[in-house]
Formats: sequence, structure tokens, C-alpha cells
Amino acid sequence: MRTPLVAANWKMHGTKAFADQLLAALAEGLASDECSTSVVICPPFPYLTQVAEAGSSRLQLGAQNLSEHASGAFTGEVSAEMLQDCGVRYVIVGHSERRSLYGESSALVADKFAAAKGAGLIPILCVGESLEERESGKTLDVVAEQIAAVSQLNLADTWHNAVVAYEPVWAIGTGKTATPEQAQEVHRFIREQLGDKGASVQILYGGSVKSANAAELFAQADIDGALVGGASLKAEEFVSICRAAG
Ligand code: 13P
Repeated sequence: MRTPLVAANWKMHGTKAFADQLLAALAEGLASDECSTSVVICPPFPYLTQVAEAGSSRLQLGAQNLSEHASGAFTGEVSAEMLQDCGVRYVIVGHSERRSLYGESSALVADKFAAAKGAGLIPILCVGESLEERESGKTLDVVAEQIAAVSQLNLADTWHNAVVAYEPVWAIGTGKTATPEQAQEVHRFIREQLGDKGASVQILYGGSVKSANAAELFAQADIDGALVGGASLKAEEFVSICRAAG
């Protein structure tokens, strides 16, 4: 049985005061709740310790990115060990904004995945196709290549303590969600690509998830939760999404 998981990707939003308010509202909204969903908050780096110290046992800490290097002269970078040291448990790797705006290749993303695993963090590997790739029928090829780059590293137990997020680029921040059937098709395909561990890996959907569409997405057999951007900045919306997951 896979535990439902909902992760908040705050992206580059917020202030200390905003984070305090949002965390207090989430702690309250989820405390009275009987839902069994694991909830992960991925704030910008400067607010990691603030989220850790907010101390709600319902909220686990995640980061949005990390360096592929362990340490050294890499100005502006943050290592897996530093994240671990700050109480981080999960880290997003290969978000489409990192791939498209910062030129992260699948090979680099795979190295980041390995760095995360090496420090005992749980990587949330993001995969997904652009609109052009979907319209030209390449969705499954793109996703297969992004997964294969990680599988090819031949890490010990690659997919144990790892999460995959399917985020079609055309659905991110656009208000256009994949239909539950479109998402399910890709989620099932991803699970097949993960080999014998596939059945136990949590596969999240991301792309304009909100309270109004969460339940129908989560009703699909291979959708185990969500990676939420915009709606994760609104306490009520985010709590409803967590409740819909389990
Ligand atoms: P939105 O939920 O704002 O579409 O963002 C999705 C996303 O990129 C989460 O990582």
C-alpha cells in the first residue's frame, strides 16, 4: 500500500511573515484532520529552518533544488548534506523550471538525484513533456528518457525511498490540468519504467492541482498524491487537497 503524499512547492514566493502565517494555518487545518496523507513543504532555501522550527509534526520538510556536488568552491550552491543538516527530508530534482530556465539536462538531474540519495534524502524526481512534445505524440518517449537517465546510474536500490512527480509542462501554472485519464496513462507508464520496485513508489501528479480537481485525479489507480505550486500558497486550498488525497 502506498501512503498518499502531497508536497507544496512554494517556488520563489513568500516572506518570513507570510511563511509564519501559512504554516500556522496549515498546522491548524491539518491538526483536526484525520487524513493519513503525508504532507511535505518545500519553501525557498532561506525559510527552510523556519519551516523546520514551525514544528508541526504533520509537516515534513523538503527543498526545491540541490547541488550535484558534495562540497567545494561552488558559489551559490547548496549541498545535500547541508539540507540534511537543516532537517530536510525530501528534495525536488529536475523540476521543469530548472530544466527549461536553468538548462538542467537529464544527466545533471540524475547526478542531483544520486547526491540526494547519497545523503539519505528522498528525491522527488520531476518528469513531463512540453505542449509541443505532447502534440507530436512524444509524451511517453520524453518521460522514458527522463526516467532512464536516473535508472542508468545503477545506484543501489534506485527507486527505494524515491518519489516521482509527473508534471506536464503545459499544465504548470496555466490553469490547464491533464484530465484524470491523461494523467493516469502516463503514471501507469512511469510505474512500468521503474521496474520491480515500481509498485511501491509514490507517483505524484503536478500541474494546476486545486481543491476542485484533486479528488478526481487521486481516484486514479496510479496517482498517489500531488506536487502543488500555486494552490499550496493558500492554506484552505492546500488543506482541501491534502484531505482529498487520503
Ligand atoms: P502549479 O500547481 O502552480 O501549476 O505548479 C505545479 C508545479 O510546478 C509544482 O511543482
